[in-house]
Amino acid sequence: MPAIVRKNVCKIPSACFSQIFPDECRICASPLKELSRIPVCPACLKKPEPLHAEYYCACCRTPFLSAYPLDENGVCGICRRGASGFDAAYSYGSHEDELRELIHIFKYGGVQTLARPLGKFLSIALPRDQSFQVIVPLPMHWRKRWQRGFNQAELLAAEISRRIAVPVQNAVIRVHQKGAQAGLTNAKRRENVTGAFRAKRRHGLAGKRVLLIDDVLTTGATASACAKVLKRAGAAHVTLLTVSRADRRIVAIDYKGLDLDFQGNEAQFPESIASRSLEHAKLGSFT
Ligand SMILES: [Zn+2]
Ligand SMILES: [Zn+2]
Repeated sequence: MPAIVRKNVCKIPSACFSQIFPDECRICASPLKELSRIPVCPACLKKPEPLHAEYYCACCRTPFLSAYPLDENGVCGICRRGASGFDAAYSYGSHEDELRELIHIFKYGGVQTLARPLGKFLSIALPRDQSFQVIVPLPMHWRKRWQRGFNQAELLAAEISRRIAVPVQNAVIRVHQKGAQAGLTNAKRRENVTGAFRAKRRHGLAGKRVLLIDDVLTTGATASACAKVLKRAGAAHVTLLTVSRADRRIVAIDYKGLDLDFQGNEAQFPESIASRSLEHAKLGSFT
């Protein structure tokens, strides 16, 4: 065999091998010492911390910088208006730093093996005193699912199902996918997802306590629209569980006048404004 051919043939298996078993962390670029199909080092996997807040809504658990947006029952304006659709919402951490990176690699990098560690975060965020009869992943429009090759919410739902021994039911479908949510006001965002979901004919949701799963809670408008469909189909109670959530304490300041609660997707999250606002938040300029 000519030397050039032999050299290239030898390269192929090693290229395949590093695809299956990556050799450096996709977050911090440190070398991976153990053979793993997860391209992230153990230190980066351990970094995301649970979200802590002194003030948060008793219903959707949105964190706030003060008690000002909460009523006497500790409920925020959106939940008070019944606009959230779900009865409770839990998330593991804030959508920033390593957690944000992990979700990004999982979702857009197609690293499906991250479902397991991210599923572990979900199970930590889920209160132990709650019981559920069915797990429903937030559905994706078939075209989007076909483009991505998977629905990240389905993979996460399978993980949490394995951990809490509750069956997954794809009881809802997404019937349309309108344009991007970025740049829209809260009302427009909600309008944008109105009618986006439909319960399947034999959904088996009547009287059930449902655990709705998604990766990120950005505005809540999409999850809310889905929760409303679950409720209309007869679900007795809907709890939303996500790995991360956009931190309202960060965006509340600059967007206060726009009545922006979180929607849109992570890629469209206004990063520069968020970090600028975080500085304001740290200085306590939130009113
Ligand atoms: Zn790392
Ligand atoms: Zn709330």
